[in-house]
Amino acid sequence: MATEKEIVVSGIRPTGYLHLGNYFGAIRNYIRMQEDFNCYFFVADWHSLTTHPDPKDLPGNVMRVLAENIASGLDPEKVTLYVQSDIPEISELYLLMNMLAYVGELEKVPTFKDKVRLQPENVNAGLLTYPVLMSVDILIQRAVKVPVGKDQGQHLEMARNFAQRFNHRYGDLFPEPVAFNYGDNLVRVQSLDGKGKMSKSENEMATLYLSDEDDKIRQKLKKAKTDSGSGVPGEPMPESVQNLIELMKLVSTPDTVQFFEDAYNNGSIRYGDMKTQLGEDMVKFIAPIREKAKDLQQDTAYLREIMKAGAEKARANAAQTLHQAKKLIGINYY
Ligand code: ATP
Ligand code: MG
Repeated sequence: MATEKEIVVSGIRPTGYLHLGNYFGAIRNYIRMQEDFNCYFFVADWHSLTTHPDPKDLPGNVMRVLAENIASGLDPEKVTLYVQSDIPEISELYLLMNMLAYVGELEKVPTFKDKVRLQPENVNAGLLTYPVLMSVDILIQRAVKVPVGKDQGQHLEMARNFAQRFNHRYGDLFPEPVAFNYGDNLVRVQSLDGKGKMSKSENEMATLYLSDEDDKIRQKLKKAKTDSGSGVPGEPMPESVQNLIELMKLVSTPDTVQFFEDAYNNGSIRYGDMKTQLGEDMVKFIAPIREKAKDLQQDTAYLREIMKAGAEKARANAAQTLHQAKKLIGINYY
């Protein structure tokens, strides 16, 4: 008998254009995982509502995230690709799980504290309970592996806590999910201005999007922060230069990376050349994805078909979990 494939879940919020961080922190792993695991990947539209997007932007953003994922190499025949709001079972389990989540622990979550600082005028309850909804996204599919970037490590820990708490109180149901990445470490792609990570909803000029035109990519890299002088041999590399080297490691050949590392170490580095080279390699990487995503986005009928088929499969699996959860809780009257 064939052993059952392990279940994987991951989501991306339709909050804007996908960027290099999303690709290397999440999508690259999705593409590899689709071969070996039972993958559920979704567009987290409910999660995006915490920041009150314009209703007329939402449908386009959802379609774009789907198109950009498929353009990056995700195969809808191999993975279950769906939109969160198509799975009402998630909202029901979210309600139930909220009874096991404590306000105190939610208030301590660093991403919540960040949002309170960044958008003090909109500290809604959805922001506070975001980790509960995210946990349910994962637990309801009974996932064991979650390919996410480094910024999500803490949320995953909470998902394990909620799973444990539920299992302990009501009986074993949820496996405890762990963050997953093919490399040794979870990836974090820094923004080009050195301030934090690349992000869909912040730092537009410091983030490289999968939809950026060639000239835009070159222009952004030209403006990226670097050291002023050339490197002093033996001195540790400044963060800004290290940052560019890290980007090179993602899209350039090992020889190219080596060349510029050597140049730095022997004091002959020319940052202009380095940025030009990185610009060209980045264009080579992004352009094909961008063009494919553009075509796919035109084909809304196809994208809707994928959404529908994915939702059907994801709902069926979610419904089983929800049914068992309710039974264990005692919501079992007929
Ligand atoms: P937002 O600014 O709206 O939160 P985001 O860019 O942080 O958008 P998310 O939708 O929150 O993107 O996250 C989608 C996936 O991309 C997650 O797995 C997350 O860990 C990963 N990710 C996001 N930014 C980066 C980054 N700079 N480096 C590595 N991984 C990232
Ligand atoms: Mg984010």
